[in-house]
Parts: sequence; C-alpha cells; structure tokens
Amino acid sequence: MSRFRMYPSPSQAEQMLTHCSHARYVWNLAVEQHSHWRRWRRSPPGFAEQCRQLTEARRDNAWLGSGNADVQQQALKDFARAKNARFTSGFGEPTWRRKHVHEGFRVIGTDRVPEYHADGSPKLNTKTGRQVMGRSVVVQKLSRRWAQVRVPGCGWVRFRLSARGKGARLPEAKTVRVTFRNGQWHIAFAVIPVPAPAPGTGEVIGIDRGVTITAALSDGRKLNCPQLTVKERAQIRKHQRRAARAPKGSAAKAAEHSMVARLKAREANRRKDWCEKTSTMLARSYDLIRFEKLNIRNMTRSAKGTVEQPGKNVPQKSGLNRSILAQGWGLLRQRTEHKAPGRVEDVPAPYTSLRCSACGWIDENSRKSQAEFACSSCGFTCNADTNASINVAAGQGGIPRPRRSACAGGTTPPTKRSSVREPQPQWVGIPLS
Ligand SMILES: [Zn+2]
Repeated sequence: MSRFRMYPSPSQAEQMLTHCSHARYVWNLAVEQHSHWRRWRRSPPGFAEQCRQLTEARRDNAWLGSGNADVQQQALKDFARAKNARFTSGFGEPTWRRKHVHEGFRVIGTDRVPEYHADGSPKLNTKTGRQVMGRSVVVQKLSRRWAQVRVPGCGWVRFRLSARGKGARLPEAKTVRVTFRNGQWHIAFAVIPVPAPAPGTGEVIGIDRGVTITAALSDGRKLNCPQLTVKERAQIRKHQRRAARAPKGSAAKAAEHSMVARLKAREANRRKDWCEKTSTMLARSYDLIRFEKLNIRNMTRSAKGTVEQPGKNVPQKSGLNRSILAQGWGLLRQRTEHKAPGRVEDVPAPYTSLRCSACGWIDENSRKSQAEFACSSCGFTCNADTNASINVAAGQGGIPRPRRSACAGGTTPPTKRSSVREPQPQWVGIPLS
C-alpha cells in the first residue's frame, strides 16, 4: 500500500464528501441486508444481485441516481470482499460505517492496460483468444513533488508524492481508496510493497516489548515510541473540559471535539511513523527477528467487571491498558512481518523476563526491580528488559509449564495453581542445561 496526502480544491472536496456519503449509504444498506440473515432463511444477495438492486434503486431515487455509479458499485465490491475475508482479515463481520468517522470511497481506474501472467506471457481470453485488458488508475506526474489523479466528478485532484528517493516511481494500481479523516484527505494505491532484502549476515535480533521501554533490543539498544508531550496532554484535557461545558449541539462543542480529535490523531500518527521506521530498520539490518509472543487482547482486557461483580483497581487497569495500546506493540510486529516475510518468529513469553541470559538460571529473585536484573546464581547484572530481549533472541523462554499429562507414559501430579504465569516456589532455582 502506498498512501499519499491529497490536496483537493474546496469544490472538489465537497464533491468527494458526496461520494463518501453515497458509498457509506450503499455499504450500510448491504450490511443491513446481510444482518437479516438467519440460519433458516435464504442466503442474502451476493455482489451481482446487489449490483442489480443498486441499478433499480438508482432509478427510483433521484438522490442516489445523481451520484456516481462506479463509486456506489465499488462500495458493494468492498463489502463483498470484506464479507469474504471475515474469517481471515481479523476484522470480523463487516459493520456499520458512520458519518465523520468512516469517510472514504473507492475509485476504479478508467484506463485500460493489457494484463500479463506472472511469467510475462499476455493474458488471453479463453473463449475469444483476445488480450485481456485490466483497469488502471490514471495518474500524472506534475513535478518532483506533486502528481494528480482522476477522481470521478472532480477532474484532476493533486496529491503530494512523499516517497523518498529520486527514482520514486508513480504508483500503479487498479483501484485507489480515498479517505477523509481528521480534516485530511489521503489516497491509498492498492499495491503490494516489495519486501526489504535480508542483509544475509545471519544476525538474529530479539525484541522485548514493554511499557517503560517500548522495544528493548538484544544488542542493548532501547527504542521508545514517541508519545504526546505533557503540554499536549494538558491541551487535550482542556479541550475535553471545554467541550463538556459547551451547550449541547453548539458549534463551540463541535469545535472543541475536533480539537481533541486532532491532538489524538497526532499521537496516532507519531506512533505509526515510529513503527514504520523501526520495522524497516529491523527488516533491513537483521536476518531473523524474534518477538516475544504477547496476547495483547488478553493483556488489555477491561477490569471493569459487571454491575454485580465490579472489578478491582479499574482506573489503574484502564490506565495501564491505555499505555499498552499507546506503545504500538501489535503494529510493530505486523509491519515487520510485512517487510520481512518469513523472517519473523514468535518466542513464547513465559520466563523470558526471569531467566538469566548468561547462565540460564531461572529465579524470580533475580529480578530486583522493573529495570534491574541481577542473577542470583552467577551474579550477572543487566537491564531487565535487555536481559529479556537476549533470551528472546536465543529463542528461550524457559521451562514450559508442567503439563497435566506426560504423553502416553503417565501423568505428572497437577500443580496447585496451574494457571500462574511466573514460576511457582517449588520451581525456584532449576537451572536450564
Ligand atoms: Zn546467571
């Protein structure tokens, strides 16, 4: 995916917002159709049937008919794709799109280009034997920094070529997605990026992700994800307070809310930027990248509980959750995997923080504090996070938890608390080979 900031003129922006609302309307109709489905009912209409219904709806409703047919049809296409990928994408069932939140639409290219197979031979129609022509988005380069793209109903819309390097080529794609978020327009070309080449040195790096240090590397480096400054956080609180006190439905309230949204978007942008730069660095400079396996969803599960059984330390836990999510752990792992496919491994997390990376001794007393590690066996001292990352690089968590059954040979006695993560008293001081 290559994404660029778009700079439409006011009239173009207005037209594109109309496209957004049409796409959202059509998508939500599709969601509604599919939400009526029950086990005993017929399956909801697929893409082809929905397209037929769209044509009818466009004839009956002047408002919908006045919009661009391609934009509306692509919304259905997006929906069909999301529906097909609901078990693999990680997003689940396609859900409602909201105004001001999910503003965007897809543009299909108007240019026709011959299609080729992976081996370079031209793709031919099996019936007629003619060359298959595919779609391509029309893009024009204006200067070193600027280019323009054709958007239906808007003519040429300029976007900034922010990719680095002199040979930054114009992206080629069949479709583009245009989004509007936090007052900014962006264009994303659907292209699969080329993976970063492995350095070929055979070097392995371990990464321990934490809250105090975002990513501790096994070579001793400590990388931190940039956060909002104290001043910016104070500004957020100020605008939230003003928004809360402004009269309901007033322009002032909306303005304060948008200020809050802009500041929060700034934080997210900083985090994303850091993740991109760090993952590129990792993919380019190491052959094998090992992360400790974290279940972030479980780690950030709410402590609220229910009304009958309220949880304990709820504000503390929600604060911790917020700071875990502010670290971009998942994004860093995901983007590294994209850039270095097949070169990323997950190491089981238990005991990585308690095992001595010098002698392999596992003892909870070795961990003196959050930052300090001093082995109780060999006296090795190190930063606790660096020590853990060296263990991760070695692919070592430690002794796995005792299993209730030892395969076919018999059973091991169940431990008293089988679900604890860190070692139990009777396990203290068992050295690894
Ligand atoms: Zn030791």
